[in-house]
Amino acid sequence: MTHLLHRAIHAKLPVAVRGEGIRLFDAEGRAYIDASGGAAVSCLGHAHPDVLAALHAQLDRIAYAHTGFFTTEAAERLADRLVADAPDGLDHVYLVSGGSEAVEAALKMARQYFVEKGEPQRRHIIARRQSYHGNTLGALAAGGNEWRRAQFRPLLVETHHIDPCFAYRLQQAGESDTDYAARAAGQLEAKILELGADQVIAFVAETVVGATAGAVPPVADYLKRVRAICDKYGVLLILDEVMCGMGRTGTLHACEQDGVVPDLMTIAKGLGGGYQPVGAVLLSSAIFQAFSEGSGFFQHGHTYMGHPMAAAAGLAVQEVIRRDGLLENVVSMGDYLERCLVERLGNHHHVGDIRGRGLFRAVELVADRATKSPFDPGLKLNARIKKEAMARGLMVYPMGGTIDGQRGDHVLLAPPFILNREDVGQIVERLGDAVDAAI
Ligand code: PLP
Repeated sequence: MTHLLHRAIHAKLPVAVRGEGIRLFDAEGRAYIDASGGAAVSCLGHAHPDVLAALHAQLDRIAYAHTGFFTTEAAERLADRLVADAPDGLDHVYLVSGGSEAVEAALKMARQYFVEKGEPQRRHIIARRQSYHGNTLGALAAGGNEWRRAQFRPLLVETHHIDPCFAYRLQQAGESDTDYAARAAGQLEAKILELGADQVIAFVAETVVGATAGAVPPVADYLKRVRAICDKYGVLLILDEVMCGMGRTGTLHACEQDGVVPDLMTIAKGLGGGYQPVGAVLLSSAIFQAFSEGSGFFQHGHTYMGHPMAAAAGLAVQEVIRRDGLLENVVSMGDYLERCLVERLGNHHHVGDIRGRGLFRAVELVADRATKSPFDPGLKLNARIKKEAMARGLMVYPMGGTIDGQRGDHVLLAPPFILNREDVGQIVERLGDAVDAAI
């Protein structure tokens, strides 16, 4: 009997005792390849000596100092590092403890920005279906994962959802990428006009959709059109890169590949690589100035924001990624991973789509490839795949998303950036066997 409330109360979980490189080991001595990076977190793998050394050094200096009284060298240096590499115009950083906190802060910054500017009537947030922005109430309200939201609806502020840009599911036969990008982004403009342009605060979207739909990149031009629509109506653009950011897709920020700079960007997971809980909001100089010239105060804060240990972890992880040229490895191993997935699973009669960018890939599983119809939720395919993969010493992230109100299944892969071709081969072989065994 455990006194710990686990997410799945009756699950019998192995006890993780050690991590090394891309593997985790349990108390029975079994090894698991961490092909999901936990949940797209462990970008450097486990027990990286340089990160451990930086954490020990930080602990010897100072472990905690409240941000209402002090700043710390670690927090200042991490902010400098993040701004140095941020897209042009994002030149301030707000440090928090994770992804949901980052999203909450971004939503509140967006609202306070308009209050500072004398537009307090703006009150609507527009987001997308099949998205995930975190589990705290504000972030959950923005998210569009009905399975996560349903029972908490009475507690959620009203948010307006449009369709995601999801080519496999929503692009029509014969429709070009350009036409589809225009149609999908057109939903944003229509929603802004329906709500009243001067009533909308922000549009929030994951640059590459993560957990809910499974590594779904936007089609070319979609985000550029979204940016233009936001500019036309003075609506802020918040890109949530908590999962897809910090190198996961092969560029430091996923939106670099779309040629778009948001007004606010949230990052977390890969920022600290799991060595400490850390997240951040990057904000534009215009937002910073409105605060600076207005009340001079962002009316928000958490006890652990800007935590020196978390900042030291983030700094060390980011320095290793740059020093070791790991983004190049993400691109080359990501391409190789995709090729191997296509080779092993591309013709599988239950594989509908293989997609993603860099080391952020997903395999969508369908009951019928022709109709794209999902499996019966009663099958609990995601749980079966997880079990079969774990039995083969492989961690992957299978999820049941929602497609037009129905459940769909995909397996998300987000392995550490340090993996090599042999590791990729093992991951795909074990995943292929797990899928065959589960269906
Ligand atoms: N935003 C996105 C895109 C995410 O994928 C997640 C977590 O998976 C979150 C926000 C919430 O992050 P956290 O679980 O660190 O609160």
